[in-house]
Formats: sequence, C-alpha cells, structure tokens
Amino acid sequence: MPRLLIIEDEEDLLPPLVFSLKREGFDVVTAGNVTDGLRLARTDPLPDLLLLDWMLPDGSGTEVCRQLRRDPVTADIPIIMVTARAEEIDRVVGLEVGADDYVTKPFSTRELTLRVRALLRRVTAATPKRLEVDPEAHLAVLDGRSLELTTAEQRVLAYLIGAGRVVTREDIIDHAWEPDATPASVRAVDSVIKRLRKRLGDSEACIEAVRGAGYRFNPDAL
Ligand code: CA
Repeated sequence: MPRLLIIEDEEDLLPPLVFSLKREGFDVVTAGNVTDGLRLARTDPLPDLLLLDWMLPDGSGTEVCRQLRRDPVTADIPIIMVTARAEEIDRVVGLEVGADDYVTKPFSTRELTLRVRALLRRVTAATPKRLEVDPEAHLAVLDGRSLELTTAEQRVLAYLIGAGRVVTREDIIDHAWEPDATPASVRAVDSVIKRLRKRLGDSEACIEAVRGAGYRFNPDAL
C-alpha cells in the first residue's frame, strides 16, 4: 500500500482528500505545517510520495522541497506541489526546486489520484528494485519490505544471487543446503524454489528455471 504524506494547512480541503485517497488504497499521513511535515517526511517508513502545499503557516513548500532534496535519505521521494490559482506563476519555481509535478487548486480528487498513480509508476519504473539477502544476519529485504524467509530459503536465494549464472540442483545442495534442513533431494530443492517464488510475489520471475540445467537469478526481473 503506497504511503502518501500530505503537507497542507487548508482544513476544508484535507478531510475529503484523505478520505478519497484512503478509499483508493493509499496509506495517508498528514501534516499541517513545515515543521511536522519535515519530521514526518524523514520518519521511517518513508513516504512513497509527498503532496506539498505551496504556502504553509510556518514557511513555504519550496523550502520544504529544497530541504528534502538536499538530504540523501529523502532526496528521491517523489513530490507533487499543490498551488492555488493565484500562485500559478510559481509553478516553474516549484519544478526548479525539485518537485516532480504540480496540481492547481481547485482540483478533483480523481485528477489528483491519476497524477499520484502516474508519478508512482514513473518512479517505480525508473528505479530497479533492491533485493538484499544475508543469511548470517537473517535478513531478506526486497525494496524495504522484509520477505519472512526461513534460513534454508535465505541460503538458497543468497547462493543463486551470488552465483550469477545457472546453477544445478546439485550445486544448490552442495553449496547452499542448510545442514539441519529437510534431507537434500532434487524434489526438496524444487520445493524451496517454489516457496521462494511465492514469497517474492510480483518479483517471482527473478528466479528462472532453465530447462535441463537448473535455476538462475535474473536481477532484471525483480
Ligand atoms: Ca496553504
């Protein structure tokens, strides 16, 4: 569920907007000023996208934008600036300080939702997913989401990633099988792979079956 942070001080605008975006399947957090906004923008889990009002009671949206872009932690968060009609002239400035898009008030929730989705798609397509697996540290994280793998699954996945080539089921048994796991067999390897793919969800295609040979990890399919 994508997490949106809305920094907006207009109290009339916020409740219907939050309601609609939640109904559209977004997780929504809000802040009414620069101070709270900056704090929430840096709080883990980071927002996937920020809706940023131009004029806030304790500062300007452009300043928020600049600060977030300067900080490596928040530099890549997609930002949509929200401007009132009177401030239209400043759109250019909004993009100059690092915003990715802007909407002009008054806007329909439908328009805003489309913009949000379009920007999220653009950003996701541009950024390769990151998969980190470290069985020693009991860690398997895909794009910031923990994969809940067993140690046996982590070992096999880490081996596939590290190998960088097609590995046979025997290779997996020899190099990645957990000593205490189910007795090693070709079938047991296949069932670990099957479980791994399931855990990888949308990214399951990154473990490719190579007919007559074995398996290969393909980072491009993450
Ligand atoms: Ca405002």
